Amino acid sequence: MNTLLRTLVCLCLGLGFNLITVETTCAAPIPTLIVDGQNNHDWKGTTPLLKRYLEETGLFTVEVATTPEKGDLSGFKPEFKKYKLVVSNYNGADWSKDTQLAFEEFVREGGGFVSVHAANNSFPSWLAYNQMIGVGGWGGRNEKSGPYVYWQEKAAKVVLDPAIGRGGSHGPQHPFLVTTRAPMHPIMSGLPDKWMHVKDELYDRLRGPAENLTVLATAFSDPEKKGTGHDEPMLMTIQFGKGRVFHTALGHAGGGQKEAQLCVGFIVTYQRGAEWAVTGKVTQKVPTDFPTAETVSLRKE
Ligand code: ZN
Repeated sequence: MNTLLRTLVCLCLGLGFNLITVETTCAAPIPTLIVDGQNNHDWKGTTPLLKRYLEETGLFTVEVATTPEKGDLSGFKPEFKKYKLVVSNYNGADWSKDTQLAFEEFVREGGGFVSVHAANNSFPSWLAYNQMIGVGGWGGRNEKSGPYVYWQEKAAKVVLDPAIGRGGSHGPQHPFLVTTRAPMHPIMSGLPDKWMHVKDELYDRLRGPAENLTVLATAFSDPEKKGTGHDEPMLMTIQFGKGRVFHTALGHAGGGQKEAQLCVGFIVTYQRGAEWAVTGKVTQKVPTDFPTAETVSLRKE
């Protein structure tokens, strides 16, 4: 619904007596903050995409908070409480303790959080952050960070594997099939059981606290592509306090390439995950250009 129409509907309903209807029909756009500023990926190229994808749903208004690219971060103090959703496109130096505590409180008290791709490389020693993302990689993560998390096809369940070893790796980028593991979850409802994702990094060996974590979709990490031979989590949700987190491991961008974030599968799961993180529901319809098991589907930048 565009803004004018929304206003008209609200006005009309507002003249009536059913205040509950008014409230639910005329939900205000969700104030959202994207954080970026440091990332070993093309954050300058992808933040505008991440912003636009949310705005295109008509559900969100989006602002961006950018850290200094290096040096002192003590002045980076976003007012998280002004927002209902925070999206991280950040993989860099630790925020100040105050900012970390403010973010923890934001999510613990019910704020929504979306972690995109290398945001799960961030903050290896910040416990609450790792509880929020469930699993992460790199930054010295190892068995002390928590178990490996992957999907066991035969038992149709998540495995928490305490084996010793590094957290986070990937083979060469390639297109891969994404398989839904929680078809009844609001984010996944109506999506195909399997869909082809465009060339991307297939993160594997992710590990972390993995508390209150639901695996929504996986991809097979093929040993022929230097993978683990496991079905690795690609899309996840995590409950942290009263807050809901949507974690997408998809979406590599760098070296002038950002097609992984132009994939309709990436875009739509991101849009739906963001709405769910705030409301616990998804009202968005699945678009007709969603990829199939055989065919990738890209949108123009
Ligand atoms: Zn990457």
